[in-house]
Amino acid sequence: MTFPVVGMIGGGQLARMTHEAGIPLGIRFRVLSDTPQDAAARVARDVVVGDYRDLDTLRGFARGCDVVTFDHEHVPTEHLRALEAEGIAVRPGADALVHAQDKGVMRARLDALGVPCPRHRLVDDPADVARFAEEVGGFPVVLKTVRGGYDGKGVWVVRSAGAAEAAEPFRAGVPVLAEEAVDFARELAANVVRSPHGQAVAYPVVESVQVDGVCDTVIAPAPGLPGELAGQAQRLALRIAKELGVVGHLAVELFETRDGRVLVNELAMRPHNSGHWTQDGAVTSQFANHVRAVLDLPLGDPRPRAPWTVMTNVLGGDYPDMYPAFLHCMARDPGLKIHMYGKDVKPGRKVGHVTAYGEDLAEVRARARHAADYLRGAIDE
Ligand code: ADP
Repeated sequence: MTFPVVGMIGGGQLARMTHEAGIPLGIRFRVLSDTPQDAAARVARDVVVGDYRDLDTLRGFARGCDVVTFDHEHVPTEHLRALEAEGIAVRPGADALVHAQDKGVMRARLDALGVPCPRHRLVDDPADVARFAEEVGGFPVVLKTVRGGYDGKGVWVVRSAGAAEAAEPFRAGVPVLAEEAVDFARELAANVVRSPHGQAVAYPVVESVQVDGVCDTVIAPAPGLPGELAGQAQRLALRIAKELGVVGHLAVELFETRDGRVLVNELAMRPHNSGHWTQDGAVTSQFANHVRAVLDLPLGDPRPRAPWTVMTNVLGGDYPDMYPAFLHCMARDPGLKIHMYGKDVKPGRKVGHVTAYGEDLAEVRARARHAADYLRGAIDE
């Protein structure tokens, strides 16, 4: 059997959907999951339950894999380097992945490459935050712990020196990055996939709408984005992927400023929520292309299949059982694509997403919105 084994560290929905994409490719899939109840562990046959922070667990897991990749960026960098030193194919490798793990390292590298970012620097304490605010023209400023954040956890908007004084981040004991609060027009994502060969593909630039720091809706392509700026964002993402030596899917989260520029917010080196639309809306999904890239296979066509595709996340609401609502959504809109992660419903937790596509953006967007709200139990008709 020459079809390889792809090992994924992390058993969440990204692993579950990567597994799904690998099935028609004939590859075998192994997952290192925190618990047997995680989204991917519920569906994959070859599951190791263990702690990704433990080097011996990682070693044992990697032994059965041709290549190891990730559904999150929390594996300690020194463990990744140890695995690489032992000859294990880790993709993306530690030298690339560290830029998605540590916002301080990422900002320093992007500065060196001349990539436009919000003004920023590491800060020592609340008094230093006040000095930084003066340097960038006043409050508000944004504070971020350099490691360990996701979905807006680890990010604080600080509106005054007094608030900086009380700021949580300094309590976590990790370095704190201060950034100017960008008054952006909207958030975009430029997603690309790169293989070890250096082949790369770029998806259309999308708009990502965040609610309370969590991705709510993604519109592909970003409506009204001038072709020139979209091209610039795609070239920027391809350049970052190449310079950092990324292998696999790279999401470059961007702010579109009111004067028509893009600034890089952050990087994710794995399948990303801003790319879920590609499952139904692109010739090759981000998940399939991530698998192809980490195996150094030729990449698939990233082009869209419809003029507009809209993905909306389904968050847990007050009803633990979504099944009745799910029936209603299917009956109401047979063209709707529903993706459930098999997770227990908890308020605010991402438990699935819905995707609609078609010719008319307003209509497509309304269909995705309705289904997500109905599944959550926020509306009942
Ligand atoms: P996470 O690691 O949680 O994804 P991000 O750095 O992406 O953290 O920040 C989460 C959200 O906070 C962003 O999507 C954006 O809405 C807001 N944000 C982050 N940095 C800034 C900034 N410099 N200016 C304005 N808003 C910001």
